[in-house]
Amino acid sequence: MTILSRPTSFAEAARILADLGPSARLVAGGTDLYVKLRKGLPPPEYLVDLGSVADPGARSIAEEGGEKGSIRAGALVNFAQVVRSPLVAATLPALRDAASIMGSVQIRGRGTLGGNAANASPGGDALPPLIVGNARAIVVSSEGSRTVSVEDLFVGPGLSCLAPHEIIVSFVWPRAPGRASVFERVGNRAFHVITKASAAIAARFDDTGRICDVGVALGAVAPTPIRARRAEMVLEGTRPSVDLLALAASEALSECAPKDDIRSTVAYRAEMCRVLLPRLLRRLDSSWRAGCDVSS
Ligand SMILES: Cc1cc2nc3c(=O)[nH]c(=O)nc-3n(C[C@H](O)[C@H](O)[C@H](O)COP(=O)(O)OP(=O)(O)OC[C@H]3O[C@@H](n4cnc5c(N)ncnc54)[C@H](O)[C@@H]3O)c2cc1C
Repeated sequence: MTILSRPTSFAEAARILADLGPSARLVAGGTDLYVKLRKGLPPPEYLVDLGSVADPGARSIAEEGGEKGSIRAGALVNFAQVVRSPLVAATLPALRDAASIMGSVQIRGRGTLGGNAANASPGGDALPPLIVGNARAIVVSSEGSRTVSVEDLFVGPGLSCLAPHEIIVSFVWPRAPGRASVFERVGNRAFHVITKASAAIAARFDDTGRICDVGVALGAVAPTPIRARRAEMVLEGTRPSVDLLALAASEALSECAPKDDIRSTVAYRAEMCRVLLPRLLRRLDSSWRAGCDVSS
């Protein structure tokens, strides 16, 4: 039998996790964990349900520090909130792109940003956008708090660098005026699928049309979501061209380690890398020319 506790703050949850040790497990929306339990994951002795946490900011998206500041999204923010947030649309539209196609209406209303990151699926759709947005996860435990770049959060399929007693409380990403971002994924259908391959790109274009501050991240093509640093180096400071896009895509491919599984093959995932990056860069470039409206 699993014993359920319902802390009303992250601090209380951290104390409970410290007291109970590895026999306790966090649950937020439950859209990953309850599916795994139904599929045979041994039930934890204690379940620490974050659903009653009432800390200010746990379920909201807000700006900090004005025009040059940052955006903070609570770990319990769900994907429906991400889709509706004007701050996300203005500062990290790739995250809105991703949230708007995740699961179903019901899943978007329950699944949380913190759960998506802590679940550490290589195909977690919020993760490439958070990586290219240079987002950091704020993590607390009974020992205090620390900050982990989302890029460094993942160590293997389903494995994050978080200790069992650590809790993600929020994500923070810098405002980067003029830096647009886009995300796309490939699956068997447009909606209600598990991602076969995904990509997010963020960049700014300077007055001469050169790409600046570029970020490229890929999902479901390696054991973790990855930042494609070599592709970024190819793109930074250049003007987009067909050859450049092809070179960036092939560099990105060299950074992937796709594998065959029940959803897709190595060859298909590699091909999708080649297709997605140029497609996203073209989208970003035309968005920029149209005044950075990347919503369509
Ligand atoms: C039908 C269906 C469709 C789906 N579609 C998509 C999709 O399109 N794209 C996609 O990426 N995902 C999808 N998912 C997966 C899931 O909805 C998301 O990963 C979601 O973000 C998980 O959030 P959650 O709050 O429900 O996590 P939970 O299931 O509550 O938790 C997941 C894991 O994270 C841990 N955890 C939760 N919150 C925290 C925290 N704050 N700090 C530390 N650890 C924490 C839990 O202990 C657990 O191990 C789908 C799931 C279902 C069932």
